[in-house]
Amino acid sequence: MNKLYYDLHIHSCLSPCGDDDMTPANIVGMAVVNNLDVIAITDHNTCRNCGPAIEMAKEYGIIVIPGMELCTSEEVHILCLFSNLENAMKFSDYVYSQLIKVKNNEEIFGKQEVYNNMDEIIDHEPYLLINASNISFNQVDLLVKEYNGIMIPAHIDKNSNSVFSNLGFIPPESKFNTIEFASKEKIEEFYHQHKGLDKYNVIINSDAHYLENINKRTNYIECDSRDKEEILRKL
Ligand SMILES: [Zn+2]
Ligand SMILES: [Zn+2]
Repeated sequence: MNKLYYDLHIHSCLSPCGDDDMTPANIVGMAVVNNLDVIAITDHNTCRNCGPAIEMAKEYGIIVIPGMELCTSEEVHILCLFSNLENAMKFSDYVYSQLIKVKNNEEIFGKQEVYNNMDEIIDHEPYLLINASNISFNQVDLLVKEYNGIMIPAHIDKNSNSVFSNLGFIPPESKFNTIEFASKEKIEEFYHQHKGLDKYNVIINSDAHYLENINKRTNYIECDSRDKEEILRKL
């Protein structure tokens, strides 16, 4: 078994709230500095900056999982992770079609920069990406499976945009295996409050919007290989 040190929730400069320094190249660079094995780029409702990060990480042997932080119609945030870029981009296109299109105001919300493999800006996403989609929480599991992906409810211990803050409970028909906590401190308290929660795998990610917040080499998952599909099977 390999221990793969991870950070599976990182925003690039394509998220309006992500710092302009969060370019795909800089994120990969910080993952190298922090000695991480696997990261996921998870911008709000888009996967468009995952490709460049995957390309740039090849040189360093870092695994980059293409992902997204989907905002459901109930405004619950869900990490969606994919084993390959092609599926992630198809999912990204679908989610884009389900977004309520409101022009981004860069002055208020921040820039939404799309990068290429040379670490150059090639586009500014015109529509605000942090809005809710038309996709409901209960639709996500089947939907991501169509693209060979998995869902992980994000920061379930937060007071906003979490399954508990917005739905009040985990719908009993839910099929996912892993939940994300924003901090280790809340885990015991949540296990007490919500019976049955301890059946899920737990991951703790940075939800970094700034380079300095990306996880250090602290949290790991045990995996037989460094294969992306194998990693997703563990989650
Ligand atoms: Zn979130
Ligand atoms: Zn996030």
